[in-house]
Amino acid sequence: MSPAPGPAAPTIAETLADLRARLRDAGIEDPATDARLLLAEALGCDAGGLILRSGNAVEPPALGRLRAMVARRIEGEPVHRIFGRRAFYDHDFALSAETLEPRADTETLVELCRQPIEAVLAARGACLIADVGTGTGAIAVSLLALYAEAEAIAIDLSPGALVTARRNALAAGVAPRFHAVAGDYLSAIGAPVDIVVSNPPYIRSGDIAGLAREVREFDPHLALDGGPDGLDAYRALACQSAERLRRPGHALVEIGQGQASDVCEIFSAAGLVLAASRDDLAGIPRALWFQTGK
Ligand code: GLN
Repeated sequence: MSPAPGPAAPTIAETLADLRARLRDAGIEDPATDARLLLAEALGCDAGGLILRSGNAVEPPALGRLRAMVARRIEGEPVHRIFGRRAFYDHDFALSAETLEPRADTETLVELCRQPIEAVLAARGACLIADVGTGTGAIAVSLLALYAEAEAIAIDLSPGALVTARRNALAAGVAPRFHAVAGDYLSAIGAPVDIVVSNPPYIRSGDIAGLAREVREFDPHLALDGGPDGLDAYRALACQSAERLRRPGHALVEIGQGQASDVCEIFSAAGLVLAASRDDLAGIPRALWFQTGK
């Protein structure tokens, strides 16, 4: 006789409902989204595919994968850290302990870079970009994929981040034009550059303890901590951009909420002029573009 059948495998719809409730009870901020992402990852499909297949069974191997990931999520680890990758602009980026998770806000900065890069390419037929604090390489890789004539120097203090960034450049097919350099801001760069772009650390040191656990415990503090007033990185970037940019040249930075006027003051004191700013999807000024004189 064959053994008595165990309980039937739950359906996708049932698993999702159960997962949402568990994540909500664990205090996870957006349980519905995280439940969809985690189950889709366990099943190896995309989150949109779950609805189409909601009556299908979730078999034991997928349930096992799901259980392991849910345990990590309940301990505070963000879903994309669990997956080891996150989509940004047109590519998936591998993450590591030394890299910030690229955020949708930063896509605003990539978009703002397009006009100055196109102006430089039209004028010179080439464009050298310095991405300061490259992390996963999200900004530099996205820009190189958009502009086949551009080259980028991707700088980071963390050698571990550069390993991840190089891997991402390779996966996106831009590695020959992606030059990873360990260093502090632009100090390791000899040649003048056309564009300086950075999503620097901009959280006030004193605010880090109050950040969501997902950020505080899983994003590297080196990538978050902007010093006592959150503006240390902008002071260094403004000064060094004024020294290292070719003329005309462009510096573009992501900023935190409420930092626009302070950052404008810092760059204008270094002789750079605000050319444009761009809001993020929440309507908050998120990226600033400064130009050198001619
Ligand atoms: N440039 C990377 C990003 O935008 C990392 C930024 C950082 O570590 N502060 O995701």
